[in-house]
Amino acid sequence: MHEMSLALAVRDLIEEAAEREKFAKVKCVRAEIGALSGVEREAFAFCFDLAMKDSVADGARLEIVATAGGGRCPACGRETPLTMIYDACAHCGAFPVEVTAGKDMRILELEVE
Ligand SMILES: [Zn+2]
Repeated sequence: MHEMSLALAVRDLIEEAAEREKFAKVKCVRAEIGALSGVEREAFAFCFDLAMKDSVADGARLEIVATAGGGRCPACGRETPLTMIYDACAHCGAFPVEVTAGKDMRILELEVE
């Protein structure tokens, strides 16, 4: 499952950070998931809990910040909202639009103790 491999990658990142910054427990993980990242939020939350078992983030709360998709139109140069990567420009209908926002999934912040 796509979300499971992501959750495991997040766990690796957290474990590395724990070693580097010497913290033993993560209380909360704030993650940004873009509307165009292809990550299913519910599935990710489910996989997150499983993946963090026996890590420093075991039992950590997951806060998901959803970012909207957006892009810049190569034809009219305006910013346009995107709900899917292959949406056309909302202003002039040009296609494809260069995606500038909402494509990524990343960790924003760890609350540790
Ligand atoms: Zn346009």
